[in-house]
Amino acid sequence: MFWKQRCVEFRIWAVIAASVFIWLTASARAQSTQPAYRADRILIQPKAGINQAVLNNFHQARKSEVLRTFYGIGRLQVLHVPKGETVTSLIAQYQRSGLVEFAEPDYEIHAAAIPNDPKYTDGTLWGLNNTGQNGGTADADIDAPEGWDVLTAASNIVVAVVDSGINYTHEDLAANMWVSPVDGSHGWNAVATNNLPLDDNNHGSMVAGVLGAVGNNGKGVVGVAWSVQIMACKCLTSTNTGSDSDLIACIDYARTNGARIINASLDSPGYSQALSNAIVATRDAGIIFVASAGNGNPGVNIDVSPTYPACFQIDNIVTVAYTTRNDGLGGLSNYGETSVDLAAPGDEVYSTSSGLTSSYYPPFSFIKIAGTSFSAPCVSGALALMLAKFPTENYQQIIARLLNATDPLPSLAGKCVTGGRLNLHNALSPPIKLTVIPTASGAPFQMHLSGGPNRVCVIQVSTNLMSWMPVFTNTTSSSGVFDFADCQSTNSARSFYRATASP
Ligand code: CA
Ligand code: CA
Repeated sequence: MFWKQRCVEFRIWAVIAASVFIWLTASARAQSTQPAYRADRILIQPKAGINQAVLNNFHQARKSEVLRTFYGIGRLQVLHVPKGETVTSLIAQYQRSGLVEFAEPDYEIHAAAIPNDPKYTDGTLWGLNNTGQNGGTADADIDAPEGWDVLTAASNIVVAVVDSGINYTHEDLAANMWVSPVDGSHGWNAVATNNLPLDDNNHGSMVAGVLGAVGNNGKGVVGVAWSVQIMACKCLTSTNTGSDSDLIACIDYARTNGARIINASLDSPGYSQALSNAIVATRDAGIIFVASAGNGNPGVNIDVSPTYPACFQIDNIVTVAYTTRNDGLGGLSNYGETSVDLAAPGDEVYSTSSGLTSSYYPPFSFIKIAGTSFSAPCVSGALALMLAKFPTENYQQIIARLLNATDPLPSLAGKCVTGGRLNLHNALSPPIKLTVIPTASGAPFQMHLSGGPNRVCVIQVSTNLMSWMPVFTNTTSSSGVFDFADCQSTNSARSFYRATASP
């Protein structure tokens, strides 16, 4: 009846990220992600109450020099790895000695990817990193710094901003502007029908800054993507109005000039078959079309009162509502359980402006600006990084990743398809989770793994939390999951499981 006891005692041990990965046995290591560590040092924690002389003798027999002892941390010791010895072998010797609680490698650490742009470091850009500054709620943000640890640059990805144009000489935008290989321009002006899509309103320049203001250049703001190619397509006039025909001209320019994403922070209540057809053509070209859900005062349900392009039923359209610094649905934000896909920060926005030199950035009063116009480019920037990170995936796969990676929020329940707000980190590096599948007594132990689509993951088993053996390697489905039954589990000892991504 061992199996019965075992079923009761089975536990799922913590799911782990690569950065906190615990040492593996040599056999497991070959199939698992192993963070970098120093070849010349290990750390050991002597067991409480062991004879110090015995430990010292053990050190001397292995020529392990004690570099430092932390008396306030249970006599934690840093050891030098002697010549001719390896970290793996030395750790194994200490683990077998019975003298230590643990022995582990000295993992390399690195500074988080924090950009030096002043409006990021002073906390103005709360949507990227919210620590509760200025009355906000901590972590009501897209986890940008964590995402930037994975990737900051989408240098080869062209994102078209169909808008009022862009201030393409701006000190914080110029380096990220797309350049036409045909005429050297930065896009198309459908209003004036020339190749000078300069912004005469402000709207398009603000959108561009949220998406991809130059990151870590010590100036101004930082976009979700620090580096990207922004294509300016002007279809809105200086008063922020325009027409479907000019919008279609911009979409067509973007499609035929290499854009992978089109950001459309604009909307109209008029259903246009021509506009719908123009977006279908972008879908057929594999382009992702990001649309703002639109704004009202207050916002309205666009499932009931549709607006376009947000509400076209075309599967490359991602429609975006906006959230506040407290993770509420923005007061002006339109919403819709079937028409809106997700939300992103879009309240109290600060970004690049259309002004020249001394007025490169808006006056402080502009920080009260809000709307889905600015949450949409937040999503476009995330999508640009995702396209760079997952270059073999098509638009449907990338959009599925985006929507699976949102943080569910009570304020968004029933207000959009996902009920969630963008999370850049999860979009670029989905968390790996194990859950137990209840089974009948005597049946093999079963688990469910989720870890993002098309990802090779390894499940490991241990009986002592020190030695881990890989027991199952599989690739997650397009929806990011697989199930696992441990056929060896019956009548074996109490075990712990964990999972990690394979390199
Ligand atoms: Ca955060
Ligand atoms: Ca900057």
